[in-house]
Amino acid sequence: MASYDDNNIFAKILRGDIPCHKCDEDDFTLSFHDIAPQAPVHVLVIPKGRYVDYTDFASNASAAEIAGFAKAIQRVAEKTGISETGYRIISNIGVNGHQEVPHLHMHVIGGAPTGPMLSKQG
Ligand code: AMP
Repeated sequence: MASYDDNNIFAKILRGDIPCHKCDEDDFTLSFHDIAPQAPVHVLVIPKGRYVDYTDFASNASAAEIAGFAKAIQRVAEKTGISETGYRIISNIGVNGHQEVPHLHMHVIGGAPTGPMLSKQG
């Protein structure tokens, strides 16, 4: 796994170097609306710690950070009104996962049917 890059775009958002449209924040997480939403609700939940992806996070984060991340996802679903109707959470990891930004993020997607789980195209 690549080491953490402090110049990735989400590190810059966490430092306040570039703005975001914030949805939720606590000691462990920041959640903000995706700049290119793929559904009526598309929020990214990120840990404040320096974790490249889910593998890094699950291996190295504290129990409190992991619990905080899980709770933040549920809170975002409540805040955006998609909890009742259902939604999808996705975390892309590495090359085969098509991860673009190397700071762990969970996509929280809903507000309309999300379609098939995977693209049929390679
Ligand atoms: P992934 O392919 O899982 O790494 O997804 C990265 C996501 O970050 C994409 O959905 C982008 O639209 C989103 N994104 C990139 N830059 C920003 C930004 N400055 N603010 C909000 N979302 C962003």
